[in-house]
Amino acid sequence: PYDVLIVGGGPAGAAAAVYAARKGVRTGIVAERFGGQVQDTAGIENFISVPHTEGPEMAAALQRHVAEYGVDVMNGQIAAALVPASEPGALAELRLVNGAVLRSKTIVLAPGARWRRINVPGETEYMTKGVAYCPHCDGPLFKGKRVAVIGGGNSGVEAAIDLAGLTAHVTLIEYDSKLRADGILQDKLRSLPNVEIIVSAQTTEIRGDGAKVTGLSYRDRESGDTRDITLDGVFVQIGLLPSTEWLKGAVTLSRFGEIEIDRRCATSAPGVFAAGDATIVPYKQIVIAMGEGATAALSAFDHLVRM
Ligand code: FAD
Repeated sequence: PYDVLIVGGGPAGAAAAVYAARKGVRTGIVAERFGGQVQDTAGIENFISVPHTEGPEMAAALQRHVAEYGVDVMNGQIAAALVPASEPGALAELRLVNGAVLRSKTIVLAPGARWRRINVPGETEYMTKGVAYCPHCDGPLFKGKRVAVIGGGNSGVEAAIDLAGLTAHVTLIEYDSKLRADGILQDKLRSLPNVEIIVSAQTTEIRGDGAKVTGLSYRDRESGDTRDITLDGVFVQIGLLPSTEWLKGAVTLSRFGEIEIDRRCATSAPGVFAAGDATIVPYKQIVIAMGEGATAALSAFDHLVRM
């Protein structure tokens, strides 16, 4: 059996693997796609001490760093179910989609998340060419430009407030007849001079000139009319979906499907730890996921020592 078995090969899983392996314990890592969301990222400019890198370059660096230690890397493998240890000292079982069963004294869950897509024409075509999902990551690219934020929940309104300070103008677009964000955020948003709020608006298309985003079309759900807005960027803020469907019943999940953890990254199941975007950790970022991955691995090691 493994001492530490990690699920996920993104920043959180890779950090956990390096930290666990450096303790000299038997470490395995199962990843559907090594690198995770970083593989889909163009420029990364907020990974402290590296002013600029590209997603695929960082993903390759994560893999190289893990490969420097004797970690058993199972890339291209998907975990289907987790059965935590039935009693203290027993082994947890990880079942893979291919039918294999892996056993380990401790588990670190780092399966990450994905941004919910709006699924309109232009979204995929203009991804990284004006269509963005992460205001902390891509906001500065739109300095002085006109952007829209789709989604009037807390994340959409927070993104609009954030972007209003960087860009020339922000249009917030909400499908419902009212915003769903907390009142205090809505008040702040409405106090900003360069923000327009449009409700009852169904985005129908993200338009572009072939190279970059030039605007967006929406249907006014009250009048039925279609309207166009001219823009340089569109931030889609309609939810982050944690990849945790397969963990239901094994560990406690929040109502958003995020893995509940404490400050030591311990889940509700003894010997099972979790890190990164799949958890309730606030702010989904690479540096944060890596820090949490390190914490989860050190907690797993601490658990091994006490077993
Ligand atoms: P992920 O990166 O999501 O990795 C999850 C891993 O788990 C993957 O290897 C995946 O294949 C694997 N996995 C999932 N389910 C299973 C399963 N059942 N079995 C086996 N493996 C599984 N952050 C920044 O800090 N700066 C940026 O500039 C930035 N830009 C971004 C741009 C885009 C387009 C996106 C999408 C995100 C961006 N982020 C950025 C956010 C950042 O990528 C994430 O916060 C970070 O990758 C989270 O790391 P993670 O390890 O928790 O999860």
